[in-house]
Amino acid sequence: MNPGASIDAIKGVGDVTAEQLRQGGISTIYDLINFLPRAYEDFSTVSNISDIQPGNVTIRARCETVATRPVRRGMRITTATLYDQSGKIQAVWFNQPYREKQLKTGEEFVFSGTFEFSYNRYQLTNPSAEKTADLPVASHQLLPVYRMIQGLKVPFLRKLLTEVKPLMTRLGETLPVEVIRDERLLPRGEAVAAMHFPDSPDQLARAKERLAFEELFALLLASQLNKEEMSKLEGYGLPFDQAIVKQFVAALPFELTGAQRLAAWEILQDLEKSSPMNRLLQGDVGSGKTVVAGLVARQVAYRGYQTAIMAPTEILATQHAATLDKLLSPFGVAVGLLTGSVKGKAREQLYTAIADGTVQVVVGTHALIQSSVVFHRLGFVVIDEQHRFGVAQRQALLSKSDKMPHLLAMTATPIPRSLALTVYGELDISLLNERPKDRKDIETKIWSPNSRSQLYGLIEEQLKLGRQAYVICNLIDDNPDNERKSVEAEYKKLRVGDFKHRRIGLLHGKLKPDEKEAVMRQFSNGDLDILVSTTVVEVGVDVPNATVILIEDADRFGLAQLHQLRGRVGRSSHQSYCYLMVSSSKAPSRRLKEVEKSNDGFYLAEVDLELRGPGEIYGRAQHGELNLQVANLADTKMIKRAQQAVQRFLKSRTDLLQYTQLAKEVETYQRLTTLN
Ligand code: ADP
Ligand code: MG
Repeated sequence: MNPGASIDAIKGVGDVTAEQLRQGGISTIYDLINFLPRAYEDFSTVSNISDIQPGNVTIRARCETVATRPVRRGMRITTATLYDQSGKIQAVWFNQPYREKQLKTGEEFVFSGTFEFSYNRYQLTNPSAEKTADLPVASHQLLPVYRMIQGLKVPFLRKLLTEVKPLMTRLGETLPVEVIRDERLLPRGEAVAAMHFPDSPDQLARAKERLAFEELFALLLASQLNKEEMSKLEGYGLPFDQAIVKQFVAALPFELTGAQRLAAWEILQDLEKSSPMNRLLQGDVGSGKTVVAGLVARQVAYRGYQTAIMAPTEILATQHAATLDKLLSPFGVAVGLLTGSVKGKAREQLYTAIADGTVQVVVGTHALIQSSVVFHRLGFVVIDEQHRFGVAQRQALLSKSDKMPHLLAMTATPIPRSLALTVYGELDISLLNERPKDRKDIETKIWSPNSRSQLYGLIEEQLKLGRQAYVICNLIDDNPDNERKSVEAEYKKLRVGDFKHRRIGLLHGKLKPDEKEAVMRQFSNGDLDILVSTTVVEVGVDVPNATVILIEDADRFGLAQLHQLRGRVGRSSHQSYCYLMVSSSKAPSRRLKEVEKSNDGFYLAEVDLELRGPGEIYGRAQHGELNLQVANLADTKMIKRAQQAVQRFLKSRTDLLQYTQLAKEVETYQRLTTLN
């Protein structure tokens, strides 16, 4: 057997199993070896039922009774009574009805899960269950847990891994020898074998260190190489014209903040270079990113190039087009709007105007990346709320130019410093860490339903002053159809209830684009007092006269989402208010309390990172495709270490190609992260 061989070369793997493995992404023995555990259960800490304390616990027990019942639509709960020689305990699984069949076998299992107080009693929630008889004898302390492969039983997978274990230790080295030596890392083969068959927690830690280091090394090396390659690309050098910028700034109805000036300056500097800009503009909600993009677009138009601005929703694209038109038309710069609802003749005309350069600034949704959109001279690309777009969409827009256009990605989701290096390694970063000076903190308060009429009184006070309010509703359960129901119900309730004398609008994702736009226009023109909406207004929407946002069922939203929603108010010099209505009588979560306490998006991002972990936040959203199996993006120390090793490696001018496997990994990362 050699690692390159197909999976059916292993004794005991027939056609069916081989196909199941292939479906699970394992085609070769090498793939199997690299199918690393996603977690470990620590059986060195098996407790007696009578001794367990709240927290993570592992017990060895049998099942006395087990039953499954439906609770609400689509949700099933399986409860079981488990026992060992010391006592009994209740276990609960959500939507895992197969547990019933599994436990009826009467055998002894090892259960591992969280022991907690919920639904008025102590219980073991969603524990894993492994037949004691199936547990490998050798690793009786730390048991690897693997991602599920359809149709494949874990004990069988372990058997296969045991078959190929001898191959593991003979795996070739992937990291440069100097790196292994300087960082005192385990050899690759030893590390991989220890991941599957750990002898001790210590050895496992060393194995994880080695593999995490390798992943980060490859990722950081890829972004360094991308950066180097970018700097060699030929772009458009657009000389800075002070008079033009001054004129733009003088015409603004407000004074730019220091942070806005600095960011604009950094961008204009980049534009002068012949290599393309690759910059992220990070600014908290309401910090004024749009005007910075507008200022730069003015300069770009003056130099005879076009700007494309891509926004994630029609509502936002429409709003940006209006804002930029107001800012730019006085200087004779034509702004166009391209979304899915621009149709027929109007669309054809717009295509022509984009192609001949009459329209200099094109704002749109992902409609911009369609092949029918041809630019005259695209020099500057802005991606608003960039975390809402994939790499492919960014690249598609950038490729609509002869040379590489300058890129500005904007985001209101601040990313903690420690993470910027890995998640945005190849980007330069500008920060808007200052709010316009007339802004006050948004007063934020958690409310419970029994004070609702008092709260409505406060909202009414604001409406009497001529201000406007948002009421945000969330899903009642996991069924997206019910989102609409809940927002419609709220709308009806308010219209006949406390606010029947008010003009109320309704907005949700199921409306047609032109209906959405009409409601949004009414609200931003002040023709509506209250907008009852789903989270479609979550990002970007800017109606400065709105000073109240009431978020219903606030405990169902994530921290970043709450902060974004709150950012819909506090966009003028008026005092603004955010009310977080909690549905249950439970004590408010830490999440809600933090939002109540702080208006600072950067601080809240740190809290979010602490509460949820980087995998949840950045894992899927940013690096879903990157497949970091072991590395922890919150491990700042390790990231720094890997970064330094990358610098040393680049300085040593070692030829990467002599490390075939590493070069391949780096290339994959490069392809996935590159912007060109
Ligand atoms: P975001 O950074 O969330 O995208 P916007 O660009 O939508 O923020 O700006 C928020 C609001 O603040 C807009 O109404 C904008 O006109 C206004 N604004 C931007 N910069 C300033 C400033 N320096 N002073 C006062 N108001 C500003
Ligand atoms: Mg914005």
